Amino acid sequence: MAVTTPKSDATAAPPTSYRAAVVPSFGAPLNIEEVPARALEPGQIRVKVEASGLCHTDIHAAHGDWPVKPSPPFVPGHEGVGTVVELAAGVSELALGDRVAMPWLGYACGTCDHCVSGWETLCLEQKNMGYSIDGGFGEYATAYARYVVKVPDGIDPFDAAPLTCAGVTTYKAVKVAGTRSSDLVAVFGVGGLGHLAIQYAAIAGGRVIAVDLIDEKLELAKELGAEFTVNAAEEDPVAAIQALGGADQAISLAVSPKAFEQAYGTLRRGGKLVFVALPADNYITLPIFETVLQGITIIGSIVGTRTDLREVFELHAAGKTHVTREVRPLDTVNESIVDVEAGRVTARIVFSL
Ligand SMILES: [Zn+2]
Ligand SMILES: [Zn+2]
Repeated sequence: MAVTTPKSDATAAPPTSYRAAVVPSFGAPLNIEEVPARALEPGQIRVKVEASGLCHTDIHAAHGDWPVKPSPPFVPGHEGVGTVVELAAGVSELALGDRVAMPWLGYACGTCDHCVSGWETLCLEQKNMGYSIDGGFGEYATAYARYVVKVPDGIDPFDAAPLTCAGVTTYKAVKVAGTRSSDLVAVFGVGGLGHLAIQYAAIAGGRVIAVDLIDEKLELAKELGAEFTVNAAEEDPVAAIQALGGADQAISLAVSPKAFEQAYGTLRRGGKLVFVALPADNYITLPIFETVLQGITIIGSIVGTRTDLREVFELHAAGKTHVTREVRPLDTVNESIVDVEAGRVTARIVFSL
C-alpha cells in the first residue's frame, strides 16, 4: 500500500485563518470577520475561493426561514469556485491547482439507494455547502473532493459560480419536466435561476414563455431566447398562457406561493408543474378535481447531481449559454442581500474574493 501524506500548494502555505462573511444569528446582518481555518478531514480539500454567487437560498439560510435550519455562526455560499490548494491524505480525484465548483450537495453517503441510483441529491446523509458545511463566502473553503466538480478550462470563474447552483438547478428542472421540441414551457421568475432556465428549456427545443413582474427582466428573457413574455403585474398569466394553448410544462422559480398557483393554472391537460423555488411561506392551495381529470403532474426538483453540473459546464464551454451576472466585493454582502430581496438585481450577484 502506498504511503500518502497531505499535499499542499508550495507557493501558498495553508492558511491558519481567513476572511469570511459569517451569519452570527438568524436575521442579523452578516459580519465580515477572520475565522479559523480547520484542519482537513479525510476526503477533503481546501479551495482558495475566487468567485462565489449569492443565491436566494443563502438569504433564507441567513434568516433561518426553512423547517430545516443551519446552526449559526456559519458561512453561507454554495456557488463557490476556486482552485485546490491542499488535499487531505489519500485524495486522488484532484490535483493542486485544479479549478473546482463547490455546489449545494457538498457530501452524500455514496452507498444508499438514492446515491447508487443517480439520485445523490436525495441522500439522507447529505451535507450542504453554506448550510451544514461552511460555504463559499470566504477566502477559503473546505469541501469533499468527491462532491466538487472540475470547472473546464476556458470557463470564467465568475460564470462558473452561478452555473454551480442556478445553472444546475434549472438544468435539472428542465430535465425532470421532460421538455421536448415544440413544447410550450412557462418559466415563472426571471432572476438568477430563471434567466438560465429559459436557455435550458430553449436548448431542449421548448418554446419559452417568461413570466415576471419587472419589464427589465422580461427584456433580458427575450434576449436569452424567450418567445413570449408576460408581465404578471399587468396581465393575468393564467389567461395569457391559456390563450396560447396552455403550457406543457411550468417551472416555478419565483419565491411566491401565488406564482406557484398561477403556474399551475397555466398548464394544459397532461401538463407538468415543477416546483423549484422555496418561498418562506411554505403552502399553496391546489384543486384535486382538476388535477385528477386533467392528468396534471407535480414534481419537486432539488438542485442537480455532479453529472448534471458537468453537463451544464459542457454546454457553457461550448458557447450555448450566457450567464448574466454582476461582480461585487464580498464586503457588499449585506447591501447585496437587500438588493436581491428588493428585486433590484437583474440576474445574479457574484462576489469576488
Ligand atoms: Zn442556490
Ligand atoms: Zn446516500
